[in-house]
Amino acid sequence: MARRLAALGINVRSLKSGPAWRQAQIRCTPNYMVTNTPSNWLDARKRAFAKLRSQSVTEKANMPLKFKPALCSCITLMALVASTAAHAQQEPKAGKRTLIRAGHLLDVKTGKLSDAQTIVVSGDSIQSIGPSSSTSPQPGDELIDLGNLTVLPGLIDVHTHLTMNTDFDPFHEVTSTNAKEAINGVVNARKTLMAGFTSVRNVGASGFVDVDLRDAIDSGQVAGPHMLVSGPALGITGGHCDDNLLPFQYHQVSEGVADGIAQVQHKVRENIKYGADVIKICATGGVLSKGDDPQASQYTLEEMQAIVADAHRLGRKVAAHAHGAQGILWASEAGIDSIEHGSYIDDAAIAMMKKHGTYLVPTVYLEDWQIENGHLPAFYHQKMVDVSSVAKKNIKHAMESGVKIALGTDAAVYPHGLNAHELDVYVNQLGMAPLTALQTATINAADLLGLSSKAGTLEAGKWADIIAVDKNPLDDVRILQNVKFVMKAGVIYKQNGNEK
Ligand SMILES: [Zn+2]
Repeated sequence: MARRLAALGINVRSLKSGPAWRQAQIRCTPNYMVTNTPSNWLDARKRAFAKLRSQSVTEKANMPLKFKPALCSCITLMALVASTAAHAQQEPKAGKRTLIRAGHLLDVKTGKLSDAQTIVVSGDSIQSIGPSSSTSPQPGDELIDLGNLTVLPGLIDVHTHLTMNTDFDPFHEVTSTNAKEAINGVVNARKTLMAGFTSVRNVGASGFVDVDLRDAIDSGQVAGPHMLVSGPALGITGGHCDDNLLPFQYHQVSEGVADGIAQVQHKVRENIKYGADVIKICATGGVLSKGDDPQASQYTLEEMQAIVADAHRLGRKVAAHAHGAQGILWASEAGIDSIEHGSYIDDAAIAMMKKHGTYLVPTVYLEDWQIENGHLPAFYHQKMVDVSSVAKKNIKHAMESGVKIALGTDAAVYPHGLNAHELDVYVNQLGMAPLTALQTATINAADLLGLSSKAGTLEAGKWADIIAVDKNPLDDVRILQNVKFVMKAGVIYKQNGNEK
């Protein structure tokens, strides 16, 4: 490719290197033409590469000459990309090392605080961690002084909706579009990252916009956390994951609606076809949906068993929205990997979850925010009041009973970027020990996401996903609401409290 451009008199070095350059290169392939989607047209940096990512570099380099005429338009695009690259994120330069001088380093496994430690970052990963006194810089190393701060692993939120905003006005909901949601996603991904959350699991988005967002983040076009995404959530006709706002004459059906064994199997396979990393389902009714009951089960045990069988066979975990006790029990019995919300969890459901090792993802801060600030339509509001009146007590009981907990927030039901408030509720309302709470957002969340080899702790070989705060969060977890430094995959996004 470079040689072909040189032959056309174009100095490749003058073009922006890194992800933007690769994107322009990819655009010259026929695959680009067939993988373009409406949400890709946000701007010159917002493109889908889900399928292209699997192409080898050699394949791209060996682009047949018959596509050469397309180069002209590609060059135009490259210029456009270069002109907008001011906002694009950089990839860590290969071979370049960054030495992070940590005043205090928190081990989230043990709670131990070690002073004067240095994390050596190379590329997107941690190369080594050791006492600063024995880690001398080499020529060319970049030094980051976090001598006054407490350094810990980037946080993980296993339940977000980055493509949605905190607006549950029915008119707003029925007039949303994939393009609007893609724009939301770009904004909210940045907010979430700047709040110190370097990985998220996004459980529910229309039109596979989350797949495009994930790929745009991975390619460096958009600042955001590592994302695992579900695409549209599966649900029964008329259930929490259907759209029940409009009357019959509009024939409105949400993308993830599937009834019966054959349909749920098809929908799982379809979601995986279009890029889902995880399958999200609605096992019971919900709060922010019209005409359904949070306590009532929606999918049957048999439907959930079929979903899990296909998802697990195809290498995907399953997350189930579930408030009612029967739905929680069936979801866990079916082998689902995490229960989202769990508001009416009872002892039978707790026993089943412990038996199967199912994670509970409580999402409790949203209740506080909504009760205080929300402007919900009456048919949502009453359900929010009812669920909130019992959920914390039941979840506290589940926590004390030893159910595994992973931090998830349902970000979008309250404003994105406030994710760390969930920890405050765990510790200061539900009585969880601060270290245990921190582990729900690091070690446990990484385990649920299947990312333990890459995230959740600071160790050599893992992603350089590193945050820092003014004080030890074990003294007061609320300090995590004010993150001063954020590095994701070796790239600094926030320093001295300022976004880059
Ligand atoms: Zn949710």
